[in-house]
Amino acid sequence: MVCNVLEYLERAEKLYPDKPAFGDESGQLTYRQLAQAARRMGSRLAEQGAYREPVAVLIDKDVNTLTAFMGIVYSGCFYVPVDKTLPIERIRTILSVVSSGYLIVKKEDEQLGREFEKETKLLFLEEMFQKSVHQPENLPLLTRIRERHLDTNPLYMIFTSGSTGVPKGVLISHRSVIDMAEQFTKTFQFSSEEVFANQAPFDFDVSVKDIYLTLRNGASMYIVPKSMFVMPKKLAGFFNEKKITTIIWAASALGVAASFRILEKEAPRYLKKIMFSGEVLPMKVLHYWQKHVRDSIYVNLYGPTEITCNCTYYIVDREFSQDQVLPIGKAFPNTEILLFNEENRLAEPGEQGEICVRGSSLALGYYKNKEETEKAFCQNPLHEDYLDMIYRTGDMGYINDRGELVFAARKDHQIKHMGHRIELLEVEASVNAVEEVEKCCCMYDDILGKILLFYQAEKEMEKEIISQLHNKLPKYMCPNVFYRLDKIPENNHGKIDRQRLKQKYMENNK
Ligand code: AMP
Repeated sequence: MVCNVLEYLERAEKLYPDKPAFGDESGQLTYRQLAQAARRMGSRLAEQGAYREPVAVLIDKDVNTLTAFMGIVYSGCFYVPVDKTLPIERIRTILSVVSSGYLIVKKEDEQLGREFEKETKLLFLEEMFQKSVHQPENLPLLTRIRERHLDTNPLYMIFTSGSTGVPKGVLISHRSVIDMAEQFTKTFQFSSEEVFANQAPFDFDVSVKDIYLTLRNGASMYIVPKSMFVMPKKLAGFFNEKKITTIIWAASALGVAASFRILEKEAPRYLKKIMFSGEVLPMKVLHYWQKHVRDSIYVNLYGPTEITCNCTYYIVDREFSQDQVLPIGKAFPNTEILLFNEENRLAEPGEQGEICVRGSSLALGYYKNKEETEKAFCQNPLHEDYLDMIYRTGDMGYINDRGELVFAARKDHQIKHMGHRIELLEVEASVNAVEEVEKCCCMYDDILGKILLFYQAEKEMEKEIISQLHNKLPKYMCPNVFYRLDKIPENNHGKIDRQRLKQKYMENNK
């Protein structure tokens, strides 16, 4: 039984030492090179005394970042990818949740890294990879660490927007990732022949599938340079040059590619598996890809970060018209989906219920956040006989006439905007912190794809709000449309009447 993801890496190192594991714009690393560099780094980190701690990494879309992840795992710690383009205050907030451990940065990011020296111990990536003359890989130390390993130990932590105003660190174990890699491999028959094109940044769990399905199968993965999503016309050429067989992308990325009509001039010749997740894929995007890549299977994957990537899948097996919605299908093996209605009873076929998940895929909760963890990860309400945890996704779904699960809506104020998961309450918390804003309410216009902000203040404050939010929140979380109101409507309980606001907005924008 595989207990540690490093067993995947080491098996591939043994079977395919000279095969490219990961590649980026500036080159590629074979399995042997990857494993050796990771062991060197693991040794250096462990020699510093790091063990079972979070190690944050200011990430880039490159193979060195991936090697650092593996190095951290060798040391017995877990990695925390942090996007270095976030506002400094946001990074600081994330590091304050992580609150101990180390921050790994590249030399070129030294200035940024120095901003956080008070919160964390700064280490430089280049120095971590260096060979020590006497002990390039401190194997006895790494062996001792491995002997103490449990598959329930954390592997990584990914931060996601939090409704209380502070991002939440979703902590995922080795066991959950191994479960994901095994179920995906079995369900979609992945092999060492696979060549993945990685789209998602490494602080998004969509990328976890690329990384670990590559390692699990001794396959290869090429990182699509960021610039190719700015100028996507070169994407199809990239697919053919690297002989890409599989893409597991955010639905929004497939949409970008379709809107640039990238497949007209050159169709991908090797692509056989196209998988997407994160939000409802517009039917016209699916039709575009299907028209140009006919020999591929298409798979709608569904699931939040908290259940390790995806808990359901639907292999497109029939034609859909523009106004139909793709089902999210059925649970992966070793996963159960339960739909609970408002009375906490199992929903009848056709009736909507909250999608709840059971299985080894469940996260270890939100790091240092017992309150939020207990809200979302709880005992299966069907019994109290033994500990049986479910994760409440906050998504509503129902079973259609064909027995397939269909995503219906969110229960709360979480949205997907430009591919990003955002808690509107977190945006509200930041706006409320602006002096002179008395009250505010955020809503999402999903037809226009815009975040709307209604705020109560004596004067127009759009500029002040934008400038303060830019210091705190990622750009994609900033509202796109601003409405100042003398008074935000309230209901009988004195709470913001979101329904009335929404109605007014719709009436004015008919
Ligand atoms: P994230 O944790 O960023 O992966 O976001 C998870 C949320 O995205 C889920 O709880 C859903 O609301 C939404 N989501 C993910 N996959 C799908 C899908 N295939 N169809 C519709 N919504 C999805």
